[in-house]
Amino acid sequence: MLIALIALLAIVFMVGWTAWRAHLKRITAEQAQLEEIVRERTQELRKERDTVLVAKSKAEEASNAKSEFLAIISHEIRTPMNGIIGMTDLALSTRLTTEQREYLQSVRASGEALLALLNDLLDLSKIEAGALALNPAEFELKECLLDATRPVMVAIHAKNIDFHIKVDENVPSSLIGDSMRLRQVLINLLGNAEKFTESGSIIVHIKVKESTEKEAILLFSVSDTGIGIAEAHQEIIFEVFRQADTGTTRKYGGTGLGLAISRQLVELMGGNIWVESSEGRGSTFYFTGYFGIPPKRTEMPSQHDSGLNILLVEDNPVNQKLAEALLRRQHHKVTIAANGRIAVDLFQQQEFQLVLMDVQMPEMDGLEATRRIREIEQKRGEGHIHIIAMTAFDQEGDRAKCRDAGMDNFLSKPIDARLLSAAIAASTQPNHSSGI
Ligand code: ADP
Repeated sequence: MLIALIALLAIVFMVGWTAWRAHLKRITAEQAQLEEIVRERTQELRKERDTVLVAKSKAEEASNAKSEFLAIISHEIRTPMNGIIGMTDLALSTRLTTEQREYLQSVRASGEALLALLNDLLDLSKIEAGALALNPAEFELKECLLDATRPVMVAIHAKNIDFHIKVDENVPSSLIGDSMRLRQVLINLLGNAEKFTESGSIIVHIKVKESTEKEAILLFSVSDTGIGIAEAHQEIIFEVFRQADTGTTRKYGGTGLGLAISRQLVELMGGNIWVESSEGRGSTFYFTGYFGIPPKRTEMPSQHDSGLNILLVEDNPVNQKLAEALLRRQHHKVTIAANGRIAVDLFQQQEFQLVLMDVQMPEMDGLEATRRIREIEQKRGEGHIHIIAMTAFDQEGDRAKCRDAGMDNFLSKPIDARLLSAAIAASTQPNHSSGI
């Protein structure tokens, strides 16, 4: 009986042992299999990561190439556009028949439309590259508003729309901020208000949202009584290339870039942009922006009425003629140098009060010429002639290069007559500060 029990136990033990061994073997095999899977997956992930890294670096390369391409194209198009718009302006200031005047006015309008599109694309590429920065300076709000409304006034009058600008009394008249970018946002909103309104009114209102002695947050609004925007579209219109509906482009034209760029600019000003609208009744676009308030000071008499002796350094004959005509109209005396080397020679021989310096030129570029002029001044131990860069490149880095070379201010081409005369006036102020 006992023997039978022992035998049974032995058999149970043997069977259990064998089963256990088989189980262990299976687990080991499974473990090996799992390890193999993990190894394979790790390899796959490594490969995927490498592919992503390669793709990322390719995308970065492509993005840099795109920015570079846009900068070059913008330069290549701006330079001849400078010639087209400028020479058209000159032609328009001569005696013409009504027909000729109309033709030239449409050349000018087309040129400006092309330049506006180019500027939008350039802004967009700067925004994408995170390279768009503001250039704050003191400005008069009233002037900025007038500049912003001028482009739409003719169309607004032609449609018989009422137009009002209301500025609350406590809004400071002088501000510190980027007036060009503020004007750009206002031009966009006013252009849209005019485009989408057939009758009724367009009202611009400016209020102080918050202020201290030194700074203010202003609230701007542009209201119209136009077609309005459906609620579902009120967010997407601020996205790049987006319009309220696909019929818009066919009927009203436009690229869908204006509001996307405006939003980025407003955010750079420390503010927000939004819309309140109801279909068929009209829209109000609001934006806020942060501005400095300059300390009150006594006005300096402007000295540039008497005319300055200006050295104009420019290689392109069309641009030479254009800048020369603008400067002579403002009663300045102009001497032309076709490249940097000639400019440096002339600077050593004659007395000038201002230099307008193109940057890209054959033989010696504007940066090198500026460096040499500063060296000459240092050797003489006196003087600092005001040098204003004029360039078709308008990237942030270019301003820095101009400043590092010793330039005092920067104008981008096509040269705007008003900005040119403002820059010249600023150069004659005793304690002028750098505009770069
Ligand atoms: P664009 O006007 O060049 O198409 P925007 O970015 O300035 O580009 O505007 C995007 C879209 O927003 C417009 O196409 C239009 O559908 C809508 N929109 C903008 N402003 C108004 C407005 N004042 N009234 C009605 N719709 C507007």
